[in-house]
Amino acid sequence: MTEGPSYDVAVIGAGVVGAAIARELSGYDLRVALLDARDDVGEGTSKANTAILHTGFDASPGTLESRLVRRGYALLSAYAETTGIPVERTGALLVAWTEEELEALPGLREKAVRNGYSHCALVSAAEVYEQVPALAAGALGGLTVPDESIICSWTTTLAYATEALSRGTVLLLGHRVSSVEPGPCTTTLHTDRGPVVARWVVNAAGLGADLVDRLFGFDRFTVTPRRGELLVYDKFARPLAPRIVLPVPSSRGKGVLISPTVYGNVMLGPTAEDLSDRTDTSTSAAGLEFLLAKGAALMPRLLEEDVTASYAGLRAAIDRSDYLISADGSRRYLLAGGIRSTGLSASMAIASYVCEQLMVAGLALVPRSDLPSPPRMPQIGEAFVRPYQSDELIASDPAYGRVVCFCEKVTEGEIRDALASPVPPAGVDGLRRRTRAMNGRCQGFYCGAKVQGMLL
Ligand SMILES: Cc1cc2nc3c(=O)[nH]c(=O)nc-3n(C[C@H](O)[C@H](O)[C@H](O)COP(=O)(O)OP(=O)(O)OC[C@H]3O[C@@H](n4cnc5c(N)ncnc54)[C@H](O)[C@@H]3O)c2cc1C
Repeated sequence: MTEGPSYDVAVIGAGVVGAAIARELSGYDLRVALLDARDDVGEGTSKANTAILHTGFDASPGTLESRLVRRGYALLSAYAETTGIPVERTGALLVAWTEEELEALPGLREKAVRNGYSHCALVSAAEVYEQVPALAAGALGGLTVPDESIICSWTTTLAYATEALSRGTVLLLGHRVSSVEPGPCTTTLHTDRGPVVARWVVNAAGLGADLVDRLFGFDRFTVTPRRGELLVYDKFARPLAPRIVLPVPSSRGKGVLISPTVYGNVMLGPTAEDLSDRTDTSTSAAGLEFLLAKGAALMPRLLEEDVTASYAGLRAAIDRSDYLISADGSRRYLLAGGIRSTGLSASMAIASYVCEQLMVAGLALVPRSDLPSPPRMPQIGEAFVRPYQSDELIASDPAYGRVVCFCEKVTEGEIRDALASPVPPAGVDGLRRRTRAMNGRCQGFYCGAKVQGMLL
């Protein structure tokens, strides 16, 4: 057995799921390590999604995913209020464009009820246009989902990681697990920065979860990266999308939507394309063309606005249509895999379910009585008071009055705070996710040099 620091539980993967699990586990009397191959938390799928806090209205009833998304919605809604994660309760509107889609709406409302969500309502074409006047002509009717919300996915992962650290979790970044050495009472994870020894291991490795699972001797699923490309429209477009506009879902997934973002933009996407390369988050000409055609059909006026950015995320699709969360007491190992397109919404419920499963498998969970208060995260949502808008804050510290990024109104004080935070950024991209600096219309053309200078 190779020597190394010893933990009760090592969580592999510091995405939104792994960070939520580490936070939850460190609420018990356990020494927890959170490992990731990358140099920042939330660098995988968790940084590039559509950032909708789903109610789970359209999940497959009876699945674990349906149960955990519903529960996760409630838990994350409350946690967001406590910690200051930006959430806007915009609601969503499913729009039927064909007779077939119109006929599917009552069934979707019944499905929502079977998923424990009873607030959907059928609306006429006239009401559809009252709710979203900029939609293209030809909508036949709609279904409202009043509680679908938009959230900051970046702040969510950071809040979990920050709280996990304040509870004693050790964050081991740059630790790619490449092999596993089981022992009688502990498992040694071999990483490119040395061994990590733990009694129990949780695999929350997202796109790499099947590969890590094989290291533990299993061969039960394969991850197929399903790329979703998205276009981000400038803030002038925001009045066009007062709520999330959803298509009627198909077997391929949720389809292309138009959604406001908590940063004041509008998003169009995502595509759904199966790839073989688990790292290919590039955008493509075909994806752009497809989205522009969809946008033109759904909301022609949106295409008159400027696109400020495009990006792609990879869903960890697996060969079954539910989460695959399974504990093995004999190996002291738990897999949290197949968390494909709802993992942000379900993250807190997944974490609590993982703890239940670990306990059933034999891990003793003794709640701690000495937990620190949850963190209060920096406010980067457009609908809330930002530091540059707070006279009180600026009076107490003039750095909050010195704007560095003028497109997104990010101040010197916020960048300084992010650099000194418990989970500091590893580079410019991490700083963007913590502050919004360089995310605006100029994409850092004007402020880039100053922002980069502050990183040095
Ligand atoms: C286009 C798109 C849109 C989406 N929209 C939504 C939405 O609106 N709402 C919603 O709730 N969900 C949405 N999702 C799904 C959501 O983003 C994911 O379910 C969630 O981010 C998965 O988180 P994760 O922690 O499992 O994976 P990840 O964030 O990918 O984290 C896994 C981590 O494991 C690490 N890792 C992998 N292998 C190893 C190894 N061997 N050693 C060490 N570390 C390793 C990786 O570096 C990575 O950081 C969307 C996804 C996509 C792609």
